[in-house]
Amino acid sequence: MTLETDNTTSTKVTCYIALGSNMGDSLAYLNQAIQDLESHANIHDLTVSKFYKSKPHGPQDQPDYLNAAAKLKTDLKAEALLDLLQKIENDNDRVRQGVVRWGARTLDLDLLFYADKTINTKRLTVPHPRICERAFVLFPLRDLNCTEQMPNLKNNETTSILECIKVLSNTELHNIKEFHHVE
Ligand code: ATP
Ligand code: MG
Ligand code: MG
Repeated sequence: MTLETDNTTSTKVTCYIALGSNMGDSLAYLNQAIQDLESHANIHDLTVSKFYKSKPHGPQDQPDYLNAAAKLKTDLKAEALLDLLQKIENDNDRVRQGVVRWGARTLDLDLLFYADKTINTKRLTVPHPRICERAFVLFPLRDLNCTEQMPNLKNNETTSILECIKVLSNTELHNIKEFHHVE
């Protein structure tokens, strides 16, 4: 029998995380976040998408973003996983106070899917509500062969990644490029 604690469950679930950075050395921040996740005792089987450069959503007077997504398994409960994501953001110089919504940041880690669960609490909305309109989330999720149903805010229905990508605007499609690392 497996013992549960307040923060963990007895079974591991598959989750998807979005990673983004547009402040400082974004490539280093994303790689550090991946390492922080990979080395955590409650995170298993981490796989990471290709990296992408994207134009910012929200305020336009900020640098382009570097984005990726990760698939992982965890026995952490959803709120405990959010705690871990926020700790990793903080450890990587994320400033929260006195900043504009969707402004520049060293690291953003969002929980996209937690198994096939729907969560609506004060701290957590899962699946992440804005996936379907964001090429910078959809392209990395497609790399990971994610087959979850995406929420679509426009019609309150859920659709596949490919359906979401099909209806992205030309601007959104032009604003994302695969990022090639130079080692
Ligand atoms: P967006 O959610 O549109 O990408 P953001 O990532 O810039 O915006 P943050 O400033 O990083 O937003 O987070 C604001 C709050 O969102 C957090 O304090 C957290 O409690 C809440 N939140 C709700 N659902 C989620 C989720 N699925 N993943 C991460 N944070 C979430
Ligand atoms: Mg975000
Ligand atoms: Mg966030």
